[in-house]
Amino acid sequence: MQAPWGAVLVCRPLQSYAEHFFTAASVVLRESQDEWNGLAAFAGVPRDRLRLLNQVHGRSIVKAPVGDDSMWIRPAADGILTADPSVALVVRVADCAPVLLADRRTGAVAAVHAGWRSTMQRIVPAAVERLAAEWGSKPADLMAAIGPSLGTCCGEMGEEVVDAFRSAGHDRAALDRWFIRAPGKRPYFDLWRANREQLEDAGVAADAVHVAGLCTRTHPEIFHSYRAAGAGAGRMAAVIRSRRRRVPVA
Ligand SMILES: [Zn+2]
Repeated sequence: MQAPWGAVLVCRPLQSYAEHFFTAASVVLRESQDEWNGLAAFAGVPRDRLRLLNQVHGRSIVKAPVGDDSMWIRPAADGILTADPSVALVVRVADCAPVLLADRRTGAVAAVHAGWRSTMQRIVPAAVERLAAEWGSKPADLMAAIGPSLGTCCGEMGEEVVDAFRSAGHDRAALDRWFIRAPGKRPYFDLWRANREQLEDAGVAADAVHVAGLCTRTHPEIFHSYRAAGAGAGRMAAVIRSRRRRVPVA
């Protein structure tokens, strides 16, 4: 899909249930207010209805406030949800996985910033649980899209990352699936598979989980990548907005 500033990606199945898009390298999304204004316009909301987070690689999920955001101080969290179409949820990434969720029944939506640390802490299942708590969302009604992010091809990690996953309670079989090992090489983390499996374990149908399968590090001309560009890397936004005006009480 084409935005005024360049190409954006959409997940076609998810588009049936929620307005959303993933930006690519054609916007940097740092200080430029023009870029943020353009993003808001494309999302169909005023600039002050974009709901961003102070992302900290944790597992906290917050509910987005509605209305004027003059009192909205970006909370330290990595997941955000709403059922109100007047706001657009935003997470920013550059190698971490952006995960967008939509409830096909109630119209509630969520945006999650899932790097390896938050994936280790099971942030996506936490978002599924919170959608259930807030709006009675059933996992079987959810659809998920995992956007461009670090692929296994470029997911080299230290052994301490595998140890951290083990300490967090992930079993041996999961670690064997999520960390690919070639003889004499360090483990390569499959961020997409880990999140897909956590979604399925949480009750989301396998055919409702859509993975872009595009590695940010492999395509630095198309995407921003922290591993490719370092601390000066631009950021990509994953944006989602509920389509429903009214959400039935569960
Ligand atoms: Zn790659």
